[in-house]
Amino acid sequence: MHLTDRERQVISSKYALTDQDKRNIIRKWDLEVWTAFAPKVKAHKKNSNAYWCYCPHCEKGKKKGTHNLTGLVYPHSNGDGLGFACKACGTKHPRVYKFLGTGSAAAEQYAEKRLEIGAVGKGWYCPAPQRHKQEQEQEKRSRAAKYRAETEQCKRENQIAYALREQEALKAAEPKTRPGTKGWCSVSKDEATRERERFASRSVRHSQGS
Ligand SMILES: [Zn+2]
Repeated sequence: MHLTDRERQVISSKYALTDQDKRNIIRKWDLEVWTAFAPKVKAHKKNSNAYWCYCPHCEKGKKKGTHNLTGLVYPHSNGDGLGFACKACGTKHPRVYKFLGTGSAAAEQYAEKRLEIGAVGKGWYCPAPQRHKQEQEQEKRSRAAKYRAETEQCKRENQIAYALREQEALKAAEPKTRPGTKGWCSVSKDEATRERERFASRSVRHSQGS
């Protein structure tokens, strides 16, 4: 399923596409898929978008009879593409994406095309391609990692700023000098004792001399 030039042209102006435009495009794409799976044998009388076909599963159509066309390709009532159902064996393939095999190359390609016209995800019968989802997941993870790194950086900066402020505060609280204490602080106990002894002996000498 490759895009034609016309499709690319339409897709390039996807923002101008109405939901009806999208539904018309999807119906065409789905028709390609069902035609390859079970080609149209007989038109549906009441619905021009539906057709009768042989069911590849039960092969009832290969037997003779009037009711051998048991496969029906029908449009979804909401207009989102076409589904397949067999009236005989009960096989149902309502959604093309799932029929192609969720995550398979064909399904991914189908989802890519639908993504391009903005017809995937909520409200549509087709999820976004897994590639797209993985990219979004990756983006989410890197955003989270970036946020964590920034938070860490911020935390470190705050810690440093806090430590600096603490230092400043300590410096400010510390008196620069201790006036009046230096005198006795600078004299050691030994010196004080010696000084006292010297004074005592001098006093004695003085009293002896008088
Ligand atoms: Zn069948």
